[in-house]
Amino acid sequence: MDNQSSKQEPPQKVIAVDVAKCIGCGLCVSTCPEVFELGGEDGKSHVKNARGCEQCNCQEAIDSCPARAISWQEMANSKS
Ligand code: SF4
Repeated sequence: MDNQSSKQEPPQKVIAVDVAKCIGCGLCVSTCPEVFELGGEDGKSHVKNARGCEQCNCQEAIDSCPARAISWQEMANSKS
């Protein structure tokens, strides 16, 4: 039997920052430093660990973002 692709995995969720909304305040970096970092040319928050943090699942960062720039996004299943 070689029916190996019949098992469906649930959609993966990834944490994302909308840089168009982000004001670079750094709150998310303080809350979840292993997930977000400020930097780059724009000085805005960027995700370095899209799976989110283990402690609060980044809900605290999402709730405290003054620009409402952080959200969970569903990713299509893809294997590479
Ligand atoms: S808390 Fe929101 S506005 Fe502030 S740096 Fe993070 S994503 Fe940007």
